[in-house]
Amino acid sequence: MMKNFPHSFKELKALVSVLKNSPKACDLNEAAANMADMEYCFAALNKVSRSFAVVIQNLPTELRNPVCIFYLTLRGLDTVEDDMNIELQKKILLLNNFYKNCGNEYFSLENIGDTDDYRNLLRHYYKVARAFNRLDKKYQWVISDVCRQMGEGMAKFAEKKLHTQEDYDNYCHYVAGLVGYGLSGLFSASGLEDERLQYQYQLSNSMGLMLQKTNIIRDYHEDLKQKRIFWFTEAWKPYAEHIDWFSLNATHTSSLNCLNGLVADALRHLPDCITYLKLLKQKEVFRFCAIPQVMAIHTLAEVYNNPKVFTSVVKIRKPLAAAMMVYTNQMKDATDYINHALLKIEQKAKQDLLHGKNIQSLVEKARTQLSDTKTYIWQEAPAVEQTVLF
Ligand code: CA
Repeated sequence: MMKNFPHSFKELKALVSVLKNSPKACDLNEAAANMADMEYCFAALNKVSRSFAVVIQNLPTELRNPVCIFYLTLRGLDTVEDDMNIELQKKILLLNNFYKNCGNEYFSLENIGDTDDYRNLLRHYYKVARAFNRLDKKYQWVISDVCRQMGEGMAKFAEKKLHTQEDYDNYCHYVAGLVGYGLSGLFSASGLEDERLQYQYQLSNSMGLMLQKTNIIRDYHEDLKQKRIFWFTEAWKPYAEHIDWFSLNATHTSSLNCLNGLVADALRHLPDCITYLKLLKQKEVFRFCAIPQVMAIHTLAEVYNNPKVFTSVVKIRKPLAAAMMVYTNQMKDATDYINHALLKIEQKAKQDLLHGKNIQSLVEKARTQLSDTKTYIWQEAPAVEQTVLF
């Protein structure tokens, strides 16, 4: 209980403001048919991701619809990936071809999805497609291209377990790094951010990997319950015979060593994320990108060397989360929150005999990046011709 108690008046104020602005749930089943397409899209977004719905509504008007449809498109694809009742060959076919239906106004999938909200989204997908068709071509291209690449990646991994570090990085690239590519593409296309942002592939990928890997580490227990595991074999095999051994031996040094190795791996992406955030110019876009990153680094600080990861879902204190959502407005704020988390990680590193030294050096690298004032050298557009979809 105390965990969620605000530590300061600033946190209390932030908590109240966040709770007040949470979107209200509405009955999708009945009302859906009559809603205008874009309205449907935002309602569906509210249903499948409340937190994302809030942050999208705070984006500049120009980006709101493209990012909403981008999210729903990938959510549709992810719903196919996550449904374990689809026959494998059919699933692979659906994943590989999903992008062709981005603007298919007759596209609808019945009985796919783990929850009613996901099933509804795919059943009414033609509404998303109609909204997609009303977007500017420059946005359509980004969305369907990312959807194609992600679908192909998911198809590749549909029957493949994550064994090596390479598998892990590739899978995270497909499901999260590509989201980074897409968002950078949309930001550039909108003209609100640098035209070259879309070509900063390494940085955009790191933005996605940082978030994805943090979730994968935090969700060990939740995923295990659902018999899904994203911790790759090479990471845990040195410490246990079976992946569920950790949940029965949460405080064992082997369990913590395994966990801390994954934390170190995620932390590698932080310097790139800092560089990326520094490149952003527009305040709302900055908030949209920075808030998830400061949340992620604080989550990493929380899960690091924490046996509770193996028996429950470790989260950051709600008031702290609320404060970060309200007060992360510019690079200085993000820097403060990141430094705060790094300090916590550094403290914990002293108790971590196996990975502590490595983690300490990763903390230093992130700090160097935070205080670095050198001009960034932009990656230019690749010379190779891009695939033409339309
Ligand atoms: Ca998935």
